[in-house]
Amino acid sequence: MVLIDLHTHTSASDGVLTPYELIDRALEAGIDLLAITDHDCVGGYRTALEYYTTKPSAMKLVSGIEYSCRWSGTTIHILGLGMDCDHPAMLEGVKKLSAARLERAEKISQRLAKKGFHGALAGAVEVADGSQLGRPHFAAWMVDQGHVADFSEAFDRYLGQGKIGDVKAFWPDMSEVTGWIADAGGVAVIAHPIHYKFTRMKLRRLVVDFKAAGGGGIELISAQHHQDHQDQQAMIRGLAREFELEVSAGSDFHRDTTYGPRLGVKAPKLSDNKAIWDRWISPEADSASALVEGA
Ligand SMILES: [Zn+2]
Ligand SMILES: [Zn+2]
Repeated sequence: MVLIDLHTHTSASDGVLTPYELIDRALEAGIDLLAITDHDCVGGYRTALEYYTTKPSAMKLVSGIEYSCRWSGTTIHILGLGMDCDHPAMLEGVKKLSAARLERAEKISQRLAKKGFHGALAGAVEVADGSQLGRPHFAAWMVDQGHVADFSEAFDRYLGQGKIGDVKAFWPDMSEVTGWIADAGGVAVIAHPIHYKFTRMKLRRLVVDFKAAGGGGIELISAQHHQDHQDQQAMIRGLAREFELEVSAGSDFHRDTTYGPRLGVKAPKLSDNKAIWDRWISPEADSASALVEGA
């Protein structure tokens, strides 16, 4: 069995584990291939890489990012995997997204102020403590201030999709993001395609535009949608085949929860899809370990 995880978050964005802790956890779990894909930044990956090189193991670590972008009036997440993080295109992308996040945070703060919640930006910045600023930090501040009872209430009433804190306007277009990833030598992947709740037609339209913009992969397994939904899996497999996209798999791990995803996904057997993980681990690794197990 090959255990992979090509979608994980650290405390550099909105994950809970530090990059060091995530590496330790992945090693404990026996993961063969790991990518750290923090929202709009690669600082967590860089820190993890330094630590990883001090811990000799068979696990491979791949660079990653999860970009927020716009497509057809919706916010979409595009993963970048295997980029050169020092490439000017990556530096430009990360810088632009950082500015976009700050701009968005200012707007969220203004909107919350209109509802009588003052000082949200300063509060969220303090909560974020140097990590990539996002809505969870606003939510944590609101809970801390007693404006809401918990995270769910903060999102349901103020920050979630369609609420006043749901500010989309500042993300770059999808094609810009896929361009940065390709220029830096990486492969762009549509993250959690089912999560957007698009119709089949709209998802297909996304894939058409994504492919035309140089995209190369789509998540077949994401813990954000149920892995046992055979019809959804079949649809993604079909789209991947039709548009020659490699399929990817990851947990989208953020934190330990009772029912939430754990780190690591069993690499699924593929008959007529191409696996993105074959770029970094040889498909023979599976049969080789099976031989050892059988010996
Ligand atoms: Zn996402
Ligand atoms: Zn994610």
